[in-house]
Amino acid sequence: SVLADQIAAGEVVERPASVVKELVENAVDAHATQVDILVQESGVQSIRVIDDGDGIDDSEVLTAFKRHATSKITSREDLFRVHSLGFRGEALPSIASVADVVMNTSTGTTGTSIHYRGGKLLQQAPAPLRQGTDITVTDLFFNTPARLKYLKSPQTELANILDVVNRIALSYPSVAFRLVHNAKELLKTAGRGDLQQVIAGIYGVQNARKMVAIAGETPDFKLAGFVALPELTRANRQYITVLINGRAIKNQQLTKAVIKGYGSKLMVGRYPIAVIALTMDPLLVDVNVHPTKQEVRLSKEPELSKLISETITARLVDVNL
Ligand code: ADP
Ligand code: MG
Repeated sequence: SVLADQIAAGEVVERPASVVKELVENAVDAHATQVDILVQESGVQSIRVIDDGDGIDDSEVLTAFKRHATSKITSREDLFRVHSLGFRGEALPSIASVADVVMNTSTGTTGTSIHYRGGKLLQQAPAPLRQGTDITVTDLFFNTPARLKYLKSPQTELANILDVVNRIALSYPSVAFRLVHNAKELLKTAGRGDLQQVIAGIYGVQNARKMVAIAGETPDFKLAGFVALPELTRANRQYITVLINGRAIKNQQLTKAVIKGYGSKLMVGRYPIAVIALTMDPLLVDVNVHPTKQEVRLSKEPELSKLISETITARLVDVNL
């Protein structure tokens, strides 16, 4: 029902950045090689995501907008095992229940245009065969005024969007992303699989050039990534990105471990730029219940924290800072 969808939306779609996250993850799941994200007025006016991915067959478009209809995962551990970002089949119906959504999608053999508003299907019609999906979300929260009212300032909402896209871009260096806000390009990655190029796109060429590669492992964990020498960066906590099996996650302890790794080389009040890619058995990851599935807990967290800080410290000594 529309009401159930709206309740689910309360969890999945907190703010414009959550819409961006879900739509961009869908594009990545659909094997897109190019994803364009066009945002107006911090996403409150409109969010458009264009991909060149698989598209949705005309016979499945309605199903895609039904809740849970598409869930591919049965257990929480599966999340870090499957190579798909989506897992609940909730995003599209949730977004469509609290906004105006127009989607044009094509598999190459069928093309469909579909229009939802406030959870109601307004139109479904054949559309041109342009491979991929082009989805536009406008009037976000038009029918849930409380949610609209509690949005933060336009700058904060935009910062959240940028953070979401940055993290996905760092997780998928072989996908080309472009983020445009009010006609201004904020991020463009080449999609050539070069993480350092993505880092340059996000943190600036200057910082990227100063970044050093790190690598380390224990029997349980494998670590690879880049860290920047701290005095060159004017970063905040957001600039520490931790990926587990290719997925950007949040975990306070690991963020602290990164900072600890810099030790006294990090000036007070400064945060480093770091991209830490971890590989591990999915069973070591305890995904919490929150549907945005970014915050995770880890068994063997002390072992992992130690690996992170010691690898960074060793490397910083190495480059003789
Ligand atoms: P989930 O991603 O959890 O499966 P969503 O509500 O985000 O659920 O999407 C529902 C389904 O719609 C997806 O499983 C996918 O089959 C399809 N879909 C959504 N967006 C796209 C896209 N950009 N390209 C291809 N298929 C898509
Ligand atoms: Mg999804």
